[in-house]
Amino acid sequence: MYKMGSTMSDYPHLLAPLDLGFTTLKNRVLMGSMHTGLEETKDWNRVAEFYAERARGEVGLMVTGGIGPNAEGSVAFGAAEMTSEEDVANHSIVTKRVHDAGGKIAMQILHAGRYAYNPACVAPSPVKSPISPFPPAELDEEGIQKQINDIAATAARAQQAGYDGVEIMGSEGYFLNQFLVTHTNKRTDQWGGSYENRMRLPIEVIKRTRAAVGENFIIIYRLSMIDLIPNGSTFDEVIQLAKEVEKAGATIINTGIGWHEARIPTIATSVPRAAFSWITKKLMGQVNIPVITSNRINTPEVGEEVLATGCADMVSMARPMLADAHFVSKAMNGKANQIAPCIACNQACLDHTFGGKISSCLVNPRACYETELTLPVATVKKNIAIVGAGPAGLATAMAAVERGHTITIFDKSDEIGGQLNMAKQVPGKEEFWGLVDWYRTMIAEMGIKTELGRTVVADDLTGYDEVIVATGVLPRDTDIPGQDGDNVLSYIDVLRHKAPVGKRVTVIGAGGIGFDVSEFLAHEGDSPTENLPAWMREWGVTDPSEHRGGLAPEGPQPEPAAREITLVQRKTEKHGKRLGKTTGWIHRAALKMKEVNFVGGVNYERIDEKGLHVSFGEAHENPTLIDADTIVMCAGQVPERSLADALEAKGIACHVIGGADVASELDAKRAIDQGTRLAATL
Ligand code: FAD
Ligand code: NAP
Ligand code: SF4
Repeated sequence: MYKMGSTMSDYPHLLAPLDLGFTTLKNRVLMGSMHTGLEETKDWNRVAEFYAERARGEVGLMVTGGIGPNAEGSVAFGAAEMTSEEDVANHSIVTKRVHDAGGKIAMQILHAGRYAYNPACVAPSPVKSPISPFPPAELDEEGIQKQINDIAATAARAQQAGYDGVEIMGSEGYFLNQFLVTHTNKRTDQWGGSYENRMRLPIEVIKRTRAAVGENFIIIYRLSMIDLIPNGSTFDEVIQLAKEVEKAGATIINTGIGWHEARIPTIATSVPRAAFSWITKKLMGQVNIPVITSNRINTPEVGEEVLATGCADMVSMARPMLADAHFVSKAMNGKANQIAPCIACNQACLDHTFGGKISSCLVNPRACYETELTLPVATVKKNIAIVGAGPAGLATAMAAVERGHTITIFDKSDEIGGQLNMAKQVPGKEEFWGLVDWYRTMIAEMGIKTELGRTVVADDLTGYDEVIVATGVLPRDTDIPGQDGDNVLSYIDVLRHKAPVGKRVTVIGAGGIGFDVSEFLAHEGDSPTENLPAWMREWGVTDPSEHRGGLAPEGPQPEPAAREITLVQRKTEKHGKRLGKTTGWIHRAALKMKEVNFVGGVNYERIDEKGLHVSFGEAHENPTLIDADTIVMCAGQVPERSLADALEAKGIACHVIGGADVASELDAKRAIDQGTRLAATL
């Protein structure tokens, strides 16, 4: 039986220990499983340091990335498995380092079923997934028994390697989840048909795993509370499964939200904070083991609120532990405002995973690079000037101060943050407010001298040991005839200066900023990201007790767009093709819901008072007028190098970073990473 401990703090629920009977977790924060790609590097010192750093940050329990139980079930060919004595020895390096740092760690066992990127993938029935090219083979009885035994054997090896427990991945549409719903389970034997039959496999997996590891070993079962797919589970089935999971021997139930193939965002930045905790709450009281809630919980305040209102016994935060390994210790020590915020952008974590790269974090480029990107105290302390308090300049300043240098950071604007101050105006990107606030806090905390409202020229920069130019970008001049007309605005006029915009708008340029400006102009009033019922209506999410899978039968019901918008690009490719791998589809779907008209393959002919005149193809055929009251330029950016050029002319050496260095494909991730890496060398 578990019980609530007590602690005096701002976060009494979050920081209370959790007694599991045979072991106690020091607080209610679980670092959720993330596939970082670290295990695949086979650099076990690096893997160990990643987890040990989080253990030093006092997180209650960590779960590793998904580890495969066999070749057919691993997420992809070459993905990490726990199938040999060598694997046991390697993982032992991790568990020892974590335990030495005072932490606890469980290994996630992930059988991907039909989601495995592997032609040999297996599933309950041969139903191909829409997000994988490989049709799965249907398992026969022997095959099913092998999968169950392999998972149990993997758990036993995890125990041998020193893990405190395992998490059995039963949600997000992976193998065990595939057995639960008729969408993917068409079987007519004892593993299909009735719900009792369909849940037999997950229950058998837990039973055999418990038998393999004995009593005093944590088994977390990750259970899908809301599938967000057609013919998903009802909540009665979720409760029935949870009760059987408890009986079968699980120690804790963790929450899963949505299958990977669901077309509803579940963790992106536009999803309201703790958007799904009300569903986990419906399970509270139905089982006697602790229940964990998850998704878009990214501050101690939100975690505390979720626990204090009885939504769960524990909260899972994954990406926030990339942004700040010391999340929990800062919350414990009255330094919650110094926690680097996860803005849920996915840019350096999930987008990297899906792009075959090692994860990191936009806000914290040291995440997963703990052994490679270090900031030791410098032997020669320097007096450094940084011009530009955008993300590039701010990241450099913070990392350089950590190394013992003295920094003055200048900006011509009277606020820090650079372009982040425009990003935060966009509905669905409210997390950027927190990021700028965090930089402000850290600058004060670290004693970084700021000179705001000061346009710096080359002569101001003599006498410093190092000069860093982080002056950002200028909007590209497109040279379209008529672009100087009164009906033409730049994205800066719209987002920073709040210039009035007519009812019919044409946006030129469909990059990240063109999408964001369209989103900004399509909305009026409260952002759905700050209003959960409105967000659920917009995406068609409902109570899984009322409708299978939690899909509203009427589908998405977005508010009508505030304006009639046309988003134009010269390329003929799909709009938004180059946006984030894991978020581009959300931006596209959001604008489609607002009936934004996507027009591609154009030549810009001219702008006049009627709107934008375009033609198509090399021969400039099919001349067309796109009627518009206002035309907004979002046609990309060029480096703002005037200061760098002036310094060079005067023979003053400088480092040029961020947009001032290279504007094309620049984002805050690259700006912050470049600044931090420069500071590591100064
Ligand atoms: P900037 O942020 O441009 O900062 C440069 C600073 O230098 C400015 O504050 C400027 O005032 C100052 N400066 C310039 N010249 C001088 C001078 N002579 N003296 C003093 N100060 C000077 N990126 C992402 O990664 N994810 C996103 O979701 C995202 N969304 C965005 C949404 C919008 C609407 C916009 C506009 C941008 C977005 N970006 C996003 C891009 C990101 O903000 C930029 O890539 C990043 O800010 C570039 O950082 P930087 O430090 O190089 O330049
Ligand atoms: P961008 O992504 O480079 O897009 C610029 C757009 O302008 C393109 O669609 C391009 O399309 C068009 N364009 C380029 N040259 C043009 C010209 N001479 N005349 C007319 N149109 C032209 O740049 P951005 O939208 O300005 O964004 C800047 C950076 O901020 C990006 O690199 C992006 O990564 C980052 N950002 C990221 C996010 C995010 O959510 N991750 C959001 C906003 C911004 P055609 O060439 O097809 O016309
Ligand atoms: Fe969070 Fe973005 Fe960092 Fe991922 S990259 S951990 S989503 S801030």
